[in-house]
Amino acid sequence: MLIDSYERVVDYLRISVTERCNFRCQYCMPEKPFSWVPKENLLSFEELFEFVKVCIDEGIVKIRITGGEPLLREDIDKFIKMIYDYEPSIDLAMTSNAYLLKGVAQKLKDAGLKRINVSIDTLKPEVAQQIAQKDVLNNVLEGVDEALAVGLKVKVNMVPMKNMNADEIVDVLEYAKARGMTIRFIEYMENAYAKAGIARLTAKEVLEELAKHYNFVDEGFDKSSPSRYYRMDDGYRFGIIEPYGDDFCKECNRIRLTAEGNLIPCLYFDEAMSIAESVKRGDIKTAALVLKEVVKNKPEKNRWGGDDAEVSSRAFYETGG
Ligand code: SAM
Ligand code: SF4
Repeated sequence: MLIDSYERVVDYLRISVTERCNFRCQYCMPEKPFSWVPKENLLSFEELFEFVKVCIDEGIVKIRITGGEPLLREDIDKFIKMIYDYEPSIDLAMTSNAYLLKGVAQKLKDAGLKRINVSIDTLKPEVAQQIAQKDVLNNVLEGVDEALAVGLKVKVNMVPMKNMNADEIVDVLEYAKARGMTIRFIEYMENAYAKAGIARLTAKEVLEELAKHYNFVDEGFDKSSPSRYYRMDDGYRFGIIEPYGDDFCKECNRIRLTAEGNLIPCLYFDEAMSIAESVKRGDIKTAALVLKEVVKNKPEKNRWGGDDAEVSSRAFYETGG
């Protein structure tokens, strides 16, 4: 079992399989063209899998595949199947913008994927185009329909922003609710890559707006989730993620692996240790030691609060959010 210095059990691994993306979301990616990490620097699925096996043997029970856009990486279903075949009980999930989901949802499910979180910030094509800087909405919605049709569990993530999609939180919630999908509103997190001038709708503002339309009670955090959940009168639950808080840190159970092999103990800290060299030379014992070191050094809480609050210099498209 992986236990950190604050007695937290670490049993959740998030793997960003690529930093590349087919969207340019204003809150995530720089506007100007930039250079991607060269493909040869990425760990292959075979290399990643060698490390995943160690993680599972050490007690990881949940794995989320993310990015960048994970569906851009060729043969992602084969990687999912490798993990599933090694340990079918693993809670295997993905986070995707859903643009390429249509036509592959069944293949992903057959490979062993259980759940998918999709990002839907708007239901207006022109706003989707403005946010993603590409005409995306139709493909996204068709992808979601297909994921539901093949029986994947689907959650929706929405980042509400002032003067952008703030007026749509009820509409997107209703869209999710009508299809049996939980929605989570994520407060926009400042970072060095986002477009200047984006203004988050705070959790308080989201709740105030929703309270005009619904009755709901605060149910607190689900175990180890950064999302606080609220239950409406009819039983539907929605979540709000307030990254600038640190209430969820005491239950944090996750570590992150980037496509280049950097193992990150906390999204908000720049510290990371690489497993790339050891995995590439087949030295899995050293990679296992790095895993234990990273878990041991997992910080008690994020750095947003207090006097030393920082803007994240790490790209969300690199870490997978
Ligand atoms: N491309 C996939 C997607 O968009 O779902 C997976 C990667 S994306 C980095 C994962 C999540 O991070 C998405 O739900 C996205 O909305 C969220 N995200 C990205 N940048 C963010 C920011 N600055 N603040 C809050 N959430 C952000
Ligand atoms: Fe791509 Fe996801 Fe970032 Fe949007 S949020 S640019 S879809 S990685």
